[in-house]
Amino acid sequence: MSVTPVTTPAVTATNVVLSGRGLHKSFGGNRAVNGADLDVSEGTITALIGPNGAGKSTVVNLISGLLPPDAGEVRLAGEDVSGWPSHRIAQRGLIRTFQLSRELQGLTVLENLLVTPIAQKGEALVNIFLRPRAVRREERANVERAVEILRDYGLYHVRDNWARALSGGQKRLLELARAVMAQPRILLLDEPMAGVNPALVDQIGDHILKLRTDGITVLMIEHNLGVVERICDHVIVMAEGRTLATGRMSDLRDNPEVVHAYLGGVLDARLDS
Ligand code: ADP
Ligand code: MG
Repeated sequence: MSVTPVTTPAVTATNVVLSGRGLHKSFGGNRAVNGADLDVSEGTITALIGPNGAGKSTVVNLISGLLPPDAGEVRLAGEDVSGWPSHRIAQRGLIRTFQLSRELQGLTVLENLLVTPIAQKGEALVNIFLRPRAVRREERANVERAVEILRDYGLYHVRDNWARALSGGQKRLLELARAVMAQPRILLLDEPMAGVNPALVDQIGDHILKLRTDGITVLMIEHNLGVVERICDHVIVMAEGRTLATGRMSDLRDNPEVVHAYLGGVLDARLDS
């Protein structure tokens, strides 16, 4: 597949589960996102790449409902969710990871998973009064599930430690583990490997590949293009608030025009290193 401009989004993506059209967001006079279009196919790992300040994080914030768009549309599984608050979007199965807040750092590792709201469930508070036994059963099931995830993420031995006492790398794993606990249909990751050592980069990459195997669709912002090439099916390139190109990493890398026009050499510099 060749690189296709997406100014008019005749994107070749099929089975689209998440899309943005004509997204705009300004901060004061700064047009952070200025007409971004994107499609994410279900069951894929899609990378969002581009130079610093391109608007990638803002797009993710618009999609996840952290910020309302000034204009444009976000569709999730066919439903227009534009401007919905993040908790409502999360109930539809779209989860965005966050760095551990102060509050979460003051909980244990296991508690961090147990306080994660499960996506797509729509917490029926009335159950706590009407069906206490069912709720207790569910709590037990949640603990079992949390323990299983912590084992999977190599965090079981620190399950009773304060989250704040974890190493930087363990905190990144915990952020991912919390997201998995939420049972998302779609997971948005903003630089999940930023600042971690190379061994952990590979480990986190493997976890993300496993998410895809488990049927979770992933949209991730990633600077490390070696990682993008290894684990991502599809790449969306952003610059100056717009989505400029989509394709496979190999197509983008092999196309010098794209490299220079869209990324100003960022691609060769990164891939050579
Ligand atoms: P990227 O993630 O691609 O590096 P961002 O989406 O973080 O880009 O930022 C795009 C532009 O919007 C930048 O100029 C940035 O300074 C600005 N920006 C992002 N978030 C805010 C904010 N909350 N308030 C003001 N300006 C912001
Ligand atoms: Mg960013």
